Amino acid sequence: MSKRDYYEVLGVSKGAEEREIKKAYKRMAMKYHPDRNKTDADAGDKFKEATEAYEILTDPQKRAAYDQFGHEGVNGQQGGHGFGGGDFGDIFGDVFGDIFGGGQRRQQRAARGSDLRYNMELTLEEAVRGVTKEIKVPTLVGCEPCDGSGAKKGSKAETCSTCHGQGQVQMRQGFFAVQQPCPQCRGKGKIITDPCNKCHGDGRYQKTKTLSVKIPAGVDTGDRIRLSGEGEAGESGAPAGDLYVQMHVRDHEIFMRDGSNLYCEVPIGFTAAALGGEVEVPTLDGRVKLKIPAETQTGRNFRLKGKGVRSARNGQMGDLVCKAYIETPVNLTDEQKSLLRQLEDSCGGVDADKHQPKTEGFLKGVKRFFDDLTR
Ligand SMILES: [Zn+2]
Ligand SMILES: [Zn+2]
Repeated sequence: MSKRDYYEVLGVSKGAEEREIKKAYKRMAMKYHPDRNKTDADAGDKFKEATEAYEILTDPQKRAAYDQFGHEGVNGQQGGHGFGGGDFGDIFGDVFGDIFGGGQRRQQRAARGSDLRYNMELTLEEAVRGVTKEIKVPTLVGCEPCDGSGAKKGSKAETCSTCHGQGQVQMRQGFFAVQQPCPQCRGKGKIITDPCNKCHGDGRYQKTKTLSVKIPAGVDTGDRIRLSGEGEAGESGAPAGDLYVQMHVRDHEIFMRDGSNLYCEVPIGFTAAALGGEVEVPTLDGRVKLKIPAETQTGRNFRLKGKGVRSARNGQMGDLVCKAYIETPVNLTDEQKSLLRQLEDSCGGVDADKHQPKTEGFLKGVKRFFDDLTR
């Protein structure tokens, strides 16, 4: 069966903001949630379809990949998210709060691991071409000897006798019964009598993890990549958090980047600027020749189509914009100076300004200014 378009599934437009997508998904989930549709066999499929669309469209990287390549672009990234999976629970908490009683359930479960953030510095070239980087992340990992249970191998955590494994107890305060985390097991519902040597009963321990992160081409400062389940391990074997890799692209010596366009300033000798000529300009793929027309002034922009950055969002190629900067010659010999004076003499006289368009315009402006003042 071919998959339906994710935007169509949620009934939102291509440019929909995350808030709209969340809202649309919430509406769908309320309608098709299996707990509310025990008799309707199709509801489960519709719910799954909407959940998948939601997961892709609220993840900037996946959404960009989907916009660019369609379902092909996000295939394989979707594995393992069934009902009741760790990620699934998070979406619920995220979107619904405690509409489905998530608040209650949450406290009984051992806590999910924290999300982590890693700030990644990239050069412009790396950001433009994409790169695979090894990163070291200090985090909590699941304990192997005890399988995350916290209980020494061969022993078992016992159900807390105070709360009978509920993790909560009812306290009476006057007329009211108040639910509180169990003081005996500190809300975990279980008591470890013989803790694991390695993790001392926590089910996880501190470790610096080395990860290989694939950065897609076209990322920019502010983009982030989510590595699902690579955050801190959860308590007592609970699901791990996610790791967010936050991109920061360093300034480049030559190029300035704005979205998918690159900008650079190109020095041009004043003779080439006057008579026309050719200069070499740098691009990210090497040097290219740029034709300079005669009478080029400082500040004139030359746009090299398709020599910018391929956008990670829409796949479109940006341009390189070269700004002309006309150089005044320096370190002149006496002979060269005299040649320049000859040139000036030849350009001089009553018509001198016509060789200097900026001066001509400027002088006219100055004249108007003083005329207005004296009027
Ligand atoms: Zn207890
Ligand atoms: Zn352990």
